[in-house]
Amino acid sequence: MMADLRELYQETILDHSKRPRNFHEIPHPDASAVGHNPLCGDRVTVFLRLSDGVLADVAFVGQGCAISKASASLMTDAVKGKTKAQAHELFEKFRRMVTGRPGDPVDTPSLGKLAVLSGVCEFPVRVKCASLPWHTLEAAIEAKKEIVSLE
Ligand code: ZN
Repeated sequence: MMADLRELYQETILDHSKRPRNFHEIPHPDASAVGHNPLCGDRVTVFLRLSDGVLADVAFVGQGCAISKASASLMTDAVKGKTKAQAHELFEKFRRMVTGRPGDPVDTPSLGKLAVLSGVCEFPVRVKCASLPWHTLEAAIEAKKEIVSLE
């Protein structure tokens, strides 16, 4: 990857971890779920407002490392206004990116800003940090009551 692009990616991650977007509770949400990554200590709660199968509003609270926070922030921006199916499809693409091999082509047109987390695949221990918000979102969509734990 070009050094400039890498730098831009790191700046975006830092920005989203320091000033996370959609970082608040949604009162009386249509769905919510809690996720925990014991390996790193990341905790996230995702809140949803649903309208005709569309994620009309998505927000989160929690605490954790910069990667988990940036990933949650970027995710809420990315899935807002999407259908449940589209959100799931995006998660599959995201998962493929962060579990891929360094240097694998990144589907930037579909991933958009989420591509800034492509470097995570070089750090296997960080993959769970980046994936936690997505697993938690899926649990909220599927109305799972138990805490999502990425052991
Ligand atoms: Zn973490």
